[in-house]
Amino acid sequence: MASVDFQNIVKSYSHPKNGDTVVLNDVSFSVESGEFLVLVGPSGCGKSTLLKCLVGLQDLTDGTIRIADKVVNNLSPKDRDIALVFQSYALYPHMTVEDNMGFALKMAKRPKPEIKETVMKAAKMLDLVELLNRYPKELSGGQRQRVAIGRSIVRRPKVFLFDEPLSNLDAKLRSQLRLELKNLHKTLQTTMIYVTHDQVEAMTLADRIAVLNKGKLQQLGTPDQLFYDPDNQFVAGFIGSPSMCFLENWEDGVIVGVRPNDVVLGTGEQKATVRAVERLGFESLVYLEYQGEAITARVEGAPPTDAEVSFSFGRVYHFNPETGTRIREGRPT
Ligand code: ADP
Repeated sequence: MASVDFQNIVKSYSHPKNGDTVVLNDVSFSVESGEFLVLVGPSGCGKSTLLKCLVGLQDLTDGTIRIADKVVNNLSPKDRDIALVFQSYALYPHMTVEDNMGFALKMAKRPKPEIKETVMKAAKMLDLVELLNRYPKELSGGQRQRVAIGRSIVRRPKVFLFDEPLSNLDAKLRSQLRLELKNLHKTLQTTMIYVTHDQVEAMTLADRIAVLNKGKLQQLGTPDQLFYDPDNQFVAGFIGSPSMCFLENWEDGVIVGVRPNDVVLGTGEQKATVRAVERLGFESLVYLEYQGEAITARVEGAPPTDAEVSFSFGRVYHFNPETGTRIREGRPT
């Protein structure tokens, strides 16, 4: 087990014509030993770059990375003791599952009985025992991804990195593998860093989530902290599905944020126009318009059938319109 510490990480690319592009802008946070940390943010925010810097596939422009309190900036990737699992599983096609999983140990010249035992242990954890003699082309996408994970487990790395490992899979398989990964983490208790653009994945997997946007760390916290107590408008809008709605004209001088489950229909003074309704079985999403602004309400049971509906808000959040920073108490008058 090992902690991972990012300190003042800067990564920029120079371009002869366009000047410098800053991809990571002074990013600092620590991942505790044994923690499952999810790094989440929209496409292009710098997630993969941060992972590549951690693995050693890219040099930092500035800053320090420590693994288990040891500075690794100048260590080659193979000396960092990190296992990386990608979305493209890149298994060796001419090797069986067993040989694929044992390959790293074979390269490290471990004795055959030890390799067999270690592979079997990992196969049991990942429900792959029946498939050990198959070739990758005889496996489904989900099974291949499990083999790729198994291949890294046998190396007993200090840290596991997952770079969008589930994005190639269909929704049902994704949620199944999410649960398996979570259980695997419980069993192995190894530090895991998981990169995704999918906030649902982040919410369901993480002990803590680091939210990145435009190369800057926006907030680091537990899923509940980010959902109920976001530091800024970006985090508030990114975490939670459907997203928080932001109203510019509801109150003077501040942006008001309201989550769809905090919009109460059939009460209050104001009336909004119902623009659309999506029925999702147990619940419905009702898309409202009030004075030119969009509000989404989540309701259980039957949605309204009228063209207009009264509404009021439960919990609301306030944000500074210039900076997006959350205003927690004492709003400006
Ligand atoms: P993410 O993984 O969050 O989608 P990336 O880390 O891949 O984002 O990329 C972050 C930003 O860095 C993107 O805007 C991308 O265009 C830019 N970038 C990545 N590699 C290079 C490069 N070699 N030169 C210039 N810009 C790059």
